[in-house]
Amino acid sequence: MAVVGAGVVGLSTTAALLQGGADVVCYERAGAPMAQRSAGSSRIFRLAHPTPDLVRLARAARAGFGRWEQAADTPMIIPSGCVISGNPAQGWAAAMAAAGAPHEIVDAPSGGLRLPALTPPSGALLDPAGGVIDVDAVRGYLIGVTRGAVAGVQVYAIEDTATGATVWSPAGEARFDAVVLAAGAGTSPLAAQVGIYTPPALAHHVRFTFPIDQSVAWQSWIDKPSAGLATYQHQSGPGRWAVGGEIDPELMAWEMGREVAMSASGEAVLGYAREHLAVEPRIVDSLYCVTTPGLGDGFEVRRNGSILAVYGENLFKLAPLLGDVLAAACTEGSTPAVPDVAASH
Ligand SMILES: Cc1cc2nc3c(=O)[nH]c(=O)nc-3n(C[C@H](O)[C@H](O)[C@H](O)COP(=O)(O)OP(=O)(O)OC[C@H]3O[C@@H](n4cnc5c(N)ncnc54)[C@H](O)[C@@H]3O)c2cc1C
Repeated sequence: MAVVGAGVVGLSTTAALLQGGADVVCYERAGAPMAQRSAGSSRIFRLAHPTPDLVRLARAARAGFGRWEQAADTPMIIPSGCVISGNPAQGWAAAMAAAGAPHEIVDAPSGGLRLPALTPPSGALLDPAGGVIDVDAVRGYLIGVTRGAVAGVQVYAIEDTATGATVWSPAGEARFDAVVLAAGAGTSPLAAQVGIYTPPALAHHVRFTFPIDQSVAWQSWIDKPSAGLATYQHQSGPGRWAVGGEIDPELMAWEMGREVAMSASGEAVLGYAREHLAVEPRIVDSLYCVTTPGLGDGFEVRRNGSILAVYGENLFKLAPLLGDVLAAACTEGSTPAVPDVAASH
């Protein structure tokens, strides 16, 4: 089997294939694994999602992180809770109720919120099983269990054949029974070579970090107010608070270039922090990545013959589940979809 991309999705798939006893080559073109969309030290984990199926997937993924935590003997999810405020709160609460996931609607005076908000939200959804993913711990574990399977070369061509697939890289031509394209921003051009459509558009995204009081176990926070900047925020280390915003897409369009996008989003997020957050309004770090705009939560898998392509947004929190699902799809020849995967968990 071959996996293209050693981001969190490709490494999780490689790990699951290896665990099932398969011979696997995972191709990675960057100098190091998990250095593109999976870079950085932290992500939000949450059961809270817009549909019951996605809540079920997140719960299955949490169980997967639990297995990784046991195997690595190290915590990977910091269970500080996750708060959803603004427009999605009620709908996401209904999805959690339908999936039987613990949740609560909380108001600031109840004392249930630990957010650095100058004006705390009311009627917010609290997902007590949510929190922060320790990306460094996940990276360390996945690199350890996939050691020896990762080839540090770029795949520049693939072809579906009657008996499998052929992959071309600087290491030469190689034949495989199945190939999973988990190449993040590089998936679409490779998938197109074998007639699989995945959304090709690219956009810039930047998350900024501010100093914050480190004595509080802050909850992660997704805020989508009816007016003003929609943000996601979470603790990204001791005394560190990361904030990403839904910046005007015209400012983040691919053609604008990285520097313009960094500067426009930095200005918007710093202005937001000054006005709304109890943080020191000083950017101490930033994390840039290339995203595919407009996908939303969840994942999509497309197949042509023995080649599978996967794409989606916010895939980190689903990684252990996605790895298992893609590995099974490789060996069984199936094409997984969210409703089927949710129904089986
Ligand atoms: C700032 C930021 C904040 C985020 N916040 C959250 C969050 O809170 N919660 C959450 O769940 N998710 C979050 N996400 C999204 C999540 O991190 C990504 O969905 C996930 O990391 C994607 O992993 P991936 O393996 O699909 O892609 P990647 O990590 O990009 O991996 C793809 C790999 O493929 C390699 N590659 C590409 N083309 C080729 C080729 N031709 N040959 C060989 N290798 C190739 C690339 O070098 C790359 O390493 C966030 C992302 C960012 C950037």
